[in-house]
This record gives sequence, C-alpha cells and structure tokens, in this order.
Amino acid sequence: MQLIWLRSDLRVHDNTALSAAAAVGPCVAVYLLSPQQWLEHDDAPCKVDFWLRNLHELKHALGELNIPLLIREAPHWDEAPKVLLDLCRALNIEAVHFNEEYGIHESRRDAAVAETLNAQDIGAHSYLDQLLFKPGSVLTRTGTYFQVFSQFRKVCYERLHRSLPRLVSAPMKQAPLSIASDEVPTRIKGFAPPTDSLRALWPAGEVEARRRLDTFVDAQIDYYQSERDFPAKPGTSQLSAYLAAGVISPRQCLHAALQSNQGEFESGKVGAVTWINELLWREFYKHILVGYPKVSRHRAFRPETEALAWRDAPAELAAWQQARTGLPIIDAAMRQLLETGWMHNRLRMVVAMFLTKNLLIDWREGERFFMRHLIDGDLAANNGGWQWSSSTGTDSAPYFRIFNPLSQSEKFDAEGVFIKHWLPELAGLNKKQVHNPAHLGDLFSAPDYPPPIVDLNTSRARALAAFKDLPSRQSAGGDHE
Ligand code: FAD
Repeated sequence: MQLIWLRSDLRVHDNTALSAAAAVGPCVAVYLLSPQQWLEHDDAPCKVDFWLRNLHELKHALGELNIPLLIREAPHWDEAPKVLLDLCRALNIEAVHFNEEYGIHESRRDAAVAETLNAQDIGAHSYLDQLLFKPGSVLTRTGTYFQVFSQFRKVCYERLHRSLPRLVSAPMKQAPLSIASDEVPTRIKGFAPPTDSLRALWPAGEVEARRRLDTFVDAQIDYYQSERDFPAKPGTSQLSAYLAAGVISPRQCLHAALQSNQGEFESGKVGAVTWINELLWREFYKHILVGYPKVSRHRAFRPETEALAWRDAPAELAAWQQARTGLPIIDAAMRQLLETGWMHNRLRMVVAMFLTKNLLIDWREGERFFMRHLIDGDLAANNGGWQWSSSTGTDSAPYFRIFNPLSQSEKFDAEGVFIKHWLPELAGLNKKQVHNPAHLGDLFSAPDYPPPIVDLNTSRARALAAFKDLPSRQSAGGDHE
C-alpha cells in the first residue's frame, strides 16, 4: 500500500505525488493538522479555514477514486515523523509520496520524516510539483541563484522553449479499500472562523479553481496588462489563494494561458505574456527562499539595511493595521484585507511602502500582519513583496522611489470607486476630494474620518535620510510594477 501525504497540494488533478503513488498500487491519503506550527508561522485563520474547506471537497473527489482520506494530528512538525511512522506501520505502507515544499521548517520536517521512514525500510519519495522549475535548476553561469528577476526569467524562457512542464494525468479509480475516510474538522482551536461573507468570496474546491482560471483566460487575460493595476476592476485572476493551497497548479495556469496565446509565453498577446510573467515572479521568490534561506528567517536580503533606524511607533502601526491612517487609499486597502482576506497587488505595494517609508516602521511588522490576515499568505511571495517595497530585498524598489499614496490613488482609483466602496463614510465626496479629504479642512463633511497620521512630504524626507545614512548604499533594483 502507498501513502500520499497531502500538504499544499489539495487537488486530484495534476498532482504529481498523488498520481505517482496511485501508479504504484493502491493508496491512502493523509493530511496532518498542525495548529501549533501554523500559529508559529502566523497562518491566518481564514487561510486555515480555506484549507479545511478544501480538504472537505478533496475528500469527496478522492472518494470517487476510492482513495480514503485520513486526518492525523501532529500539532508541531517535530511530531510528523512519529505520526507518519505509526500510520505506516498500522497500514503496512511501503512508501510515502509527497510534493516538495520549500521553507526551512518544511524542508527540515521532510528530511526528518524521510530519515525516520527509511530507517524502517519504508520509502519516502518527494516530487517537484509546486513550481515549474526545481529550485537549484535555474542558476547563473557561476552556479548561484539569480538575484535579479529579469535574468532569472530569461533562463526560465529558455527552459520553456526547450520543453514545457507537462500536466500529470489524474489517477484512475482504484478498487475499494476497507479503510474509511475520517471526518474533516470544520474548525481548529486557536483559529477563529471567518465570516460567512468572507467564505462566500472564496468557495472551496478544484471545480471553483478551474472555473476561475477558465473565466479569467476566456474573458480577462487579454485585458490583464491594461487593467491589472486598477483595484476597482476585476482585472486579475484572484487565483492566489488557490495556488497557495495547491487547489490549482502553476502548470495548469501556464497551460491555460498558453492556450489563449497560441503557445507563446514571450511574445504574442501582451495580456497572456504579462500574466505568465507574474507566475514567474511567484517562481522567482520561491527560488530565492531556497537559495537564500536567511529570508526564511526574516532577515533582510540586503544586510546593510539591517542597520536602518526603524521607528518604534505602536500607535501609528495600530492605525495602519486598523485602517484609520486618514489616507483613504491606504485605509480602503486595509479594510479590503481585513474583510476579504485578500488585497489587490497594486495596493499591497502602496500600503507596504507607506508603512516602511512614510511611517518608517520595520517591514517585518507589515509582513507578519499580512500573513496573519491573508487567505493567500505565502512566505516566499509575502516576504518578497515586503522586501521589495521596503527596498531591503533582492531586485527591490530603489529606496529613493517612494510611492506617494495620493498620486497612486488619483492614478489607479481616479473615480474613487474603490475608496468609496470600502469607506462609505466618504461617499459624499467628489472624485477629486475623495483622495485627500484633509485638504478640505472644515468643509469636510465626514467627521468620523480621521485626519492623516503623517505628513507625506516630511515623512518622505525622513525615509530618504534614513536610507542615505546606511553604511553602504544600495544600487538601484528592478522594476516590479
Ligand atoms: P494575478 O495578478 O492574477 O497573478 C496570478 C498569480 O501569479 C497570483 O495568483 C500569484 O500566485 C502570482 N503572483 C502575482 N504577482 C506576484 C508577485 N508579485 N509575487 C509572487 N507571486 C505573484 N502573493 C501571494 O500569493 N501570497 C502572499 O502572501 C503575497 N504577499 C504579498 C505582499 C506584498 C507586500 C506584495 C507587494 C505582494 C504580495 N503578493 C503575494 C503578490 C501579489 O500581490 C498577489 O499574488 C496577487 O495580488 C494575487 O492576486 P491574483 O491571484 O488576482 O493575481
């Protein structure tokens, strides 16, 4: 009997480990509940709830194939080797199959599991699945990991020209086993259940993930490049939560995008090319995580920035977290995060720059807060995004290019539609006033809305001075926009 150990790959289609296990012989699936570890990783309650809801769907999909889904508890990953070994012994398992995960703790856990199983003559087989390219296989000529995205992408393109990562066929139905599936819990202690309205925004299951992908590719991908920066428009795929939980694979996304662009990824329709580019940013940050494990330990990629004089400003941090900075675009974005578990990419950059530059608060505060609230929270992408915005990362925004939240607001939410949706208290303002109500002084007719917590010009100068003071200054980085 084979065991498929499911983690961030909650799907039946194009699941490398699942298909490999099923190809060998009858198989059983297991998922470990690790609440203590999840708390240590700041995994958001809405994300944990999303995992559980997807597991529930997956149990039925696996049931159609006669593959039972077992649920076991390993509160901390230290316990994973023993829990899995006990299960293997009880079921007489020959080998355990799992798809690679790339954080430091994940890698350590998997190495410990493999060692424990191998010592008992049980196989432990891991597979590339979460990424298009194996970390360590896209390297510079001197054999190091790329630090500049455009150079990394160039090699990815060369690889894609040579051969496309192929989709794996779903496993065939196996003969029924006399093992019953376990109930999937509907909640886990320590993780408050999200609201029904948040849940309704992110229905679980592969069918929904596939529907989103197909709708995006059929109706939106051609406009992606021109509409992706406008938060009031449904210009992006909203697939990140599904990709992070593995309800859909990057290969499925790549193939769907290629189909809409006659097989081209580097030329042809600009929308598809731009979207594939974003899939490669996802890839890049995961490779960075493996190549430079210090980012997994929340260290700055650019060591000189560890000396930055970040401000200890708890009241300002709280205002940012609670969407009461008095800057409408920032507050609207933070409300979107708090209420939906997701934030538009343009606004992630804007609020991150505001926190780390205008408020000069350590990027790690923002990174942690995002992780605790995002349904798509992913260590590599979140860390990458925060270090990009705070100019502490690889290929990040140059420190002197500080977004002005007001001009970003006027440019990307010109009519104020997004702001008014999330800040109904500003609904009475016209499209000019809505970006900067403080400007109206006493004429302002929304008394409940706070004045700005910071002056944008002086705080910008303060950030520039803090970065200039660093021992050795950074070179200009790449363009993420
Ligand atoms: P689309 O625009 O449709 O893009 C398709 C997919 O490509 C996304 O689903 C995502 O998997 C990937 N992708 C897109 N942009 C990026 C990017 N810049 N970096 C890495 N992958 C990308 N993304 C996460 O998945 N998890 C996070 O925790 C996360 N934290 C972020 C924090 C900050 C400060 C910033 C600036 C960005 C962060 N991102 C994160 C990247 C990006 O904002 C989201 O992936 C995107 O908004 C998800 O929406 P979508 O699925 O509609 O994306």
